[in-house]
Amino acid sequence: MFKTYKLTEDPATLKKLVDALQKNYDIRTRGTEVHVSDLVQICLREQGFRRVMPKPITEFTAFYFLLGEACHIAAQKLIDGVKTEVVVKTADKKVQGHVDMVLNLTGTPVEVKTSTARIRFVAQHYITQLMYYMVMLNKRKGHLLYFWLSQGRLPTDPKGTLRSPSFGMYEVTITDLEFATIKADINNKSKLFSKATAEYETGGIGALQQLPAAKFDETKAFKCNSCKYVTECNSID
Ligand code: SF4
Repeated sequence: MFKTYKLTEDPATLKKLVDALQKNYDIRTRGTEVHVSDLVQICLREQGFRRVMPKPITEFTAFYFLLGEACHIAAQKLIDGVKTEVVVKTADKKVQGHVDMVLNLTGTPVEVKTSTARIRFVAQHYITQLMYYMVMLNKRKGHLLYFWLSQGRLPTDPKGTLRSPSFGMYEVTITDLEFATIKADINNKSKLFSKATAEYETGGIGALQQLPAAKFDETKAFKCNSCKYVTECNSID
């Protein structure tokens, strides 16, 4: 068969799709309410910047956003015995969250995550997010469903067997004391976040100085390497 067709890259059409994806991303990450996802990220100050000074996402971010959404939607569609996208609110209705799945039998939350990490650490901020949902649902138990998208090794065997892309399911349980601590944490962080973002309207960028910054914590400072707000953040300290 003669090859008569032409195959060329088409960045113009790709841009249209990425722009459309950006709109969807904006709807999910902006607004005036405080979301659980605002409070559990590695840097609360970055979340404050994202709220008051939103910037366009890169094609790289759009790609992983789409990949994450694809896994969420597929899991929610294909797994029976669960309610999906369950909206939860704190008693004072000031913080809300969308739980990926809640098991019908036990009412416990399941948070779905994707990761391309080569060492399969379960990220602390994902555990925190799940624990927030557990408290908001008045549960002491919850689950994290991971999609490990790359080949990787266990943290206990960092030079050992390379495992194929696969699922991981993890159970998290908390004590009554932890439950009370997390409840207080949601309350304190949400008040601080609301105050700082509201004060930005009158006081400008300096209002965000009151939000804890990853750069002052050596275990979290790596976050600054990929942050779009480095210049603004350094200007207020
Ligand atoms: S530069 Fe670092 S500390 Fe500042 S907002 Fe970004 S991630 Fe947070």
